[in-house]
Amino acid sequence: MGLTKKIVLAMIAGIAVGLIFNFLDTSQVLGARVTSFINSYLTNGLFDIVGRIFIASLKLMVVPLVLVSLICGACALSEGSRVGVLAGKTVLLYLVTTAAAISLALLLAIVFQPGVGMEAIAGDASFDPKPSPPLSEVLVNIFPTNPVDAMAKGNMLQIIVFALLMGYAISRSGKPGQRVAGFFNDLNEVILRMVSVLMVFAPYGVFALLANKIAQLGFDTILLLLKYFLVVLGALLLHAFGVYSLLLKLLSGLSPLKLFKKMRPAMVFAFSTASSAATIPVTLQTVEKRLGVDNKVASFTVPLGATINMDGTAIMQGVATVFISQLYGIEIGLMGYLTVILTATLASIGTAGVPGVGLIMLAMVLQQVGLPLEGIAIVMGVDRLLDMVRTAVNITGDSVVSTIVAKSEGALHMDTFKDDNYNSVVDNGEGRRATS
Ligand code: ASP
Repeated sequence: MGLTKKIVLAMIAGIAVGLIFNFLDTSQVLGARVTSFINSYLTNGLFDIVGRIFIASLKLMVVPLVLVSLICGACALSEGSRVGVLAGKTVLLYLVTTAAAISLALLLAIVFQPGVGMEAIAGDASFDPKPSPPLSEVLVNIFPTNPVDAMAKGNMLQIIVFALLMGYAISRSGKPGQRVAGFFNDLNEVILRMVSVLMVFAPYGVFALLANKIAQLGFDTILLLLKYFLVVLGALLLHAFGVYSLLLKLLSGLSPLKLFKKMRPAMVFAFSTASSAATIPVTLQTVEKRLGVDNKVASFTVPLGATINMDGTAIMQGVATVFISQLYGIEIGLMGYLTVILTATLASIGTAGVPGVGLIMLAMVLQQVGLPLEGIAIVMGVDRLLDMVRTAVNITGDSVVSTIVAKSEGALHMDTFKDDNYNSVVDNGEGRRATS
């Protein structure tokens, strides 16, 4: 069985076991002793440990992979001096898709009114927001003062700036530059191999993470907030399969179905980790090796997207804002909605893709339009599951934009995109491998 298949099976098994444990925990059919054994030794014991080790092993690869891969990419790019055009197109597409996502979310929430009739639960919820960074700070912080510090902290935007600069300088340094470029190209191969080695353990990690998280979900809260939950989910699916398909078809003429199929393993990773940052190694490999986006484009667009492009998160914020305004009976009006679109789009630039960060951004949005922050405490109850789904949407958005940009720059390997036998993402570092 190919590793991709194993990972998908692990996801299904993890969800199933999680659901069973959740049921046992809430219904107590097997008695307190068995339930407490399951909780302490499996859910919060074995599964928790394996899941956390799995996330650590993914995160471990993020900084070296982004740095080295982007230096190689920037080096290749600078030779054709296309960096500016490429960056412009990418950022523009990221911002436009995010604004479209949040507009779609607002529209659906206004039509379906998830908060109307729910005013009673607004009651005495309270929430203590963590401060979100002001925009000026975000802009200044893109420029590193110390590359080692940026890497130590995993500050993706700073790492991107440093790698772009270094790649550019390498390409302008003649013979010494060529030697350094050769070294980084070799190092890139080695790091990709490391990712492949770690991927062998991915099915266990995916299983443990999902079994752990699903077992802990409060399904009764989801039932209580079912309408909100369904509107967010509906908007996420519509954006992922409707808007992205349309964009891909219109702007590049490529088959969306093929892209979705090939992105499947990366979506499973994003879903189980709820972190687009931790998923970067898998997204990058998938986009390059399966979709055929050249490294010089993908090494820039994927890490950047994981940091600044969060369409799924924007959707949650759109629906949540309308939901909370209905809950508290506060009308925010057209200006309010426009403010939401602008704030949510900008907020996504400054926050890294890690679990639950969407709620911090939501605090920023609510504050802008004068809605009570306590509303966050209410939606928080159902946020984990939505976080998983929206993270999968976030990285799908990154891959769609990467593919569109690559196609427009003549950097999409069409034979790879069309080839159905490409299974290299998680199977090995070499590329071609027949699927069974
Ligand atoms: N978990 C999301 C991500 O990493 C961010 C969020 O919506 O909280 O992309």
